[in-house]
Amino acid sequence: MTETVLAASMTDPRVAEREARFRDEVAAYRLRFRCAACAHVITDTRTCSMGYPNVALVGPLRAMEVMRTRPGTEVPAEAIGPVTCKYFELGESELDDPNL
Ligand code: SF4
Repeated sequence: MTETVLAASMTDPRVAEREARFRDEVAAYRLRFRCAACAHVITDTRTCSMGYPNVALVGPLRAMEVMRTRPGTEVPAEAIGPVTCKYFELGESELDDPNL
């Protein structure tokens, strides 16, 4: 079901509009919440120094990332949104983020 929801969201024009608006807002307000701006990122590898999986926070910016659930389970609407990290701490410097 998770893959179905993800595939359906990719082709929904409302999703494309929401993604574009999110990208615009991130740029306009200079929002920082991704690993490139975090104090815990390892500069050379862009991995997390605390070992957290960070694919969604170094990959393409998405307003609607489907959180992975167990196969066969429904994805509640509230589980679809931008990925953030509760351990994010704004670093003193910032790496380029090619996905912004
Ligand atoms: S603490 Fe979170 S935001 Fe910071 S580098 Fe690790 S995964 Fe990325």
